Amino acid sequence: MTTFPDHALATALTLVTDLFDRLGAATADPPGITRASYGEGEVIAQGLLSEVARGLGMEVTTDAVGTLRMVLPGRDRSLPAVTMGSHLDSVPHGGNFDGAAGVIMGLGIAAALHAAGRAPHRDLLVLGIRAEEMCWFPAHYLGSRALFGLLPKDAPDTLRRVDTGRTLAEHMAAEGLDPAPIRAGRALLDPARIACFIEPHIEQGPVLVEEGLPVAVVSGIRGSLRYPQASAHGAHAHAGAVPRRHRRDAAMATVALIAALDARWSRLEASGADLVCTTGILATDPALHTSTKIPGVVRFSLDIRSQDAALLAELDDWLAAEAARIGAARGVTFDFGPPTHAAPALMDPGLRALLVRSAANAGVKAREMASGAGHDSATFAGLGIPTVMLFLRNEHGSHNPDEALDMADVGAGLAVLVPAVAELLG
Ligand SMILES: [Zn+2]
Repeated sequence: MTTFPDHALATALTLVTDLFDRLGAATADPPGITRASYGEGEVIAQGLLSEVARGLGMEVTTDAVGTLRMVLPGRDRSLPAVTMGSHLDSVPHGGNFDGAAGVIMGLGIAAALHAAGRAPHRDLLVLGIRAEEMCWFPAHYLGSRALFGLLPKDAPDTLRRVDTGRTLAEHMAAEGLDPAPIRAGRALLDPARIACFIEPHIEQGPVLVEEGLPVAVVSGIRGSLRYPQASAHGAHAHAGAVPRRHRRDAAMATVALIAALDARWSRLEASGADLVCTTGILATDPALHTSTKIPGVVRFSLDIRSQDAALLAELDDWLAAEAARIGAARGVTFDFGPPTHAAPALMDPGLRALLVRSAANAGVKAREMASGAGHDSATFAGLGIPTVMLFLRNEHGSHNPDEALDMADVGAGLAVLVPAVAELLG
């Protein structure tokens, strides 16, 4: 692996630090920053990044669905591009780094190549993707799916932005963008023209802070087994008058099911499985419940995530069997309701190995870990594009104004990514 001159990495870090500062100031919305999907903050971010990209000799365009494309031209334009990037939108009053870090670091890599006087063999394409945060439009990976023609064809007219009530088509028209490719299911970027996709992103949990590591190579994006509208049905009855054998207590049955899941999760985790389980909703009916009544109905949710698709399928079967067993023992029927599952997206083994090797070469301590949150990388991996993510340590979690990305960790990320991307570019 080629080593990069220190001055080129220092130039890249200076550019990246300055861009984060300017972007944060330009999209400030105290507390924090706001960059709405198909809204003002994204447009401001695109303008700022475009100007810097042009200064690095990059070709800058925006496609029909608003994706910002910044290309550092290679010597052989016929080859598929090494592609990087992430999303430029944020949650309302969010932090400055979720999403933007992946685009800005792509420009940092272009700056390092520029400063080192390296002319890449193939194109480096840096994407500023639209609309990844689900809080604005109720659709996952909206911008990256639009880019590849993967959205439902009626999406421009049926998806409404939560805060304005206006449709996606209306928001796109306001920016001079064209929803026609979405309505036609037409891809604006051919996956065959992408050699690989690399998405740097802040870690949104506490693992890297806890372990004192600046970066992690992501092994996969967890898929999910989700039942957001599950319920248990027994019979309402008097809390004092009914003996145990006659009770059909929906709350006790639900708690038994959740406790069984928790015990199984604990055993699976001890054996090395990747798994997280959450019951975010657990409630008796406020119109009917009271402390002196056996609850006949409980509503609850299950959100079970793993990067192991076989484990998720096995747990789905186990849940059905366990619900039947507990239900029979307690006179309660479980109804899991409609599922909203998502398949796991595994990162490319070759790219993972490249980043691990690059980290070791650069003397940067790193680990591998699964991503619990969804990312645009799942869209790229789902299309068969070799994909990898690099997580950067970030304090105080994400989707809040207190996201904290230390520029020293950005420097460590650049030390890993610059030589690795240079090797991929040839
Ligand atoms: Zn993000």
